Amino acid sequence: MQTHTWDAVVIGGGVAGLSAAQMLGRARRRTLVIDAGSPRNRFAAHMHGVLGHDGTDPAELLRRGREEVAAYGVIVADGEVTAVTDEGDRLRITRADGAVDHARAIVVATGIRDVLPEVEGLAAVWSRSVLHCPYCHGWEVSGRRLGVLATSAASIHQIELVRQWSDEVTAFTADAGQLDPETLARLIARDIRVVTAPARALVTGSSGALTAVRDAEGTEHPLDAVFVAPTPAVDLGFADDLHLSRTDGPGAPLAVDALGSTSHPRVWAAGNTTAPYGNVPLSMGAGSMAGAAVNAALVAEDAHRAVESRRHQRNAHWEERYASDERFWSGRVNATFAAVAQTLSPGRALEVGCGEGADAVWLAERGWQVTAVDVSDTAVARGRAAAHERGLADRVRFIAADAGDALPEAAFELVTSSFLHSWEPDFPRIALLRSAADRVAPGGHLLVISHAAPPSWARDDHHGGHTSAHDGPPLLGPQEELELLGLDAAEWTTVLAEVRQRAVTSPAGESATLDDGVLLLRRAR
Ligand SMILES: Cc1cc2nc3c(=O)[nH]c(=O)nc-3n(C[C@H](O)[C@H](O)[C@H](O)COP(=O)(O)OP(=O)(O)OC[C@H]3O[C@@H](n4cnc5c(N)ncnc54)[C@H](O)[C@@H]3O)c2cc1C
Repeated sequence: MQTHTWDAVVIGGGVAGLSAAQMLGRARRRTLVIDAGSPRNRFAAHMHGVLGHDGTDPAELLRRGREEVAAYGVIVADGEVTAVTDEGDRLRITRADGAVDHARAIVVATGIRDVLPEVEGLAAVWSRSVLHCPYCHGWEVSGRRLGVLATSAASIHQIELVRQWSDEVTAFTADAGQLDPETLARLIARDIRVVTAPARALVTGSSGALTAVRDAEGTEHPLDAVFVAPTPAVDLGFADDLHLSRTDGPGAPLAVDALGSTSHPRVWAAGNTTAPYGNVPLSMGAGSMAGAAVNAALVAEDAHRAVESRRHQRNAHWEERYASDERFWSGRVNATFAAVAQTLSPGRALEVGCGEGADAVWLAERGWQVTAVDVSDTAVARGRAAAHERGLADRVRFIAADAGDALPEAAFELVTSSFLHSWEPDFPRIALLRSAADRVAPGGHLLVISHAAPPSWARDDHHGGHTSAHDGPPLLGPQEELELLGLDAAEWTTVLAEVRQRAVTSPAGESATLDDGVLLLRRAR
């Protein structure tokens, strides 16, 4: 069976799910809604308390919602999700008919199931004569003879609330437990009739409408409508694999933050499944928030992936440059580096961006135990071979890796990096130097050698299709770099921050000088 990969799959196409889908669709996210088609209020012919939609048939609101999200490219499929599994950078969503979809994120908006009290005849008039919420349906029965069937101690609140809609309220309190004297006093003071015998049956007339509630003692209490708070059941078996955190509220709804984020980084939730007592507007608002939150998370992920992709391209470019030549650099230690490094006492050294390893081998020859890191396999292999030739294999460890990923955890007496530049404006030079600085042992040194100015001959030069370093981010002097590094002044002492000139021969064979930036910092003990 063919599978699709979506930015987001919304599970449940009630008001919460469709509101999430609306935000996602408008944000140009490839979005699928899978809906089993049993919204909680499907029993009601009209809905109220929904601004702009007062009295609308709930089914009509969903029909319009489906139409609206379709206009933004959202696909709404009828079906039931039976399993969601975590595949790392995406989720796998399976439907009852075996269809499989993948998504970078999901929104769980599957609502709740109302578990009604087992009172004879109640289910038959659910949502007609038996109502769940006075805000939704109280106005329509206001002033009539109203009953409240308590389902738990929390129903006391509903009993007191319903009194706002009628002077004639009968409360069936058997399932609320023993009422304390204060509660009883409040109900009596408000002229609420309290029936302690359990309600047994709903009595209806020829029209099918409620006429009375019969209690366990056989007494019939004439009533026109009854309010009842059903027990919410939050059915989330399909998401078991995700181990989503639940709250300890009635029905154990999903735990979410204000954005609808759950305990799983790729799962958001909205509507009754997180707030069983939320009405249509609240569910719509939560869905809308979750949809926007999913998009924001995907925007962040898109940026992260783009940065990673550029990093891989950059690293591949360096590898190509090394591999395209038998030897890239001279194989000799850089003179400026050597002049500074020879003033330091040997210990453990880490070189970040070691190239073909000339400086690392030079350090090893002078008694340092060196770890040298570069992104290019070829460059590192050359460094390793050079160390081997000089009998220094046990003094230099070469690692082919991106220093942004994995610098050795150990601390070093010297951490150094020379000419760690790139033509790319987003090359994270300062971030790399900062993490290099983290590896300096107490009392050790950070030595950074850089191009403080472009070479005179290279101003209009291009290497391998890329502009040379000076065409990329501006080359800064050591003092400016020191400020950018922002190292704690109480911990770091600046030993050297200066520009040194180095005599070189230009590619055209002419004498020239280069401006090398030298930054030598010592970490406090
Ligand atoms: C009788 C009654 C009347 C109400 N009247 C009002 C009113 O007048 N005004 C008001 O504001 N509120 C009213 N409400 C509350 C209202 O119904 C809820 O606030 C609202 O439905 C919650 O929306 P939701 O999207 O979270 O869940 P739902 O509307 O219940 O939608 C959930 C959807 O998910 C689907 N689903 C479930 N599991 C799966 C699965 N595994 N795979 C795919 N799909 C799945 C369901 O079939 C359903 O279509 C009423 C509630 C009831 C019970």
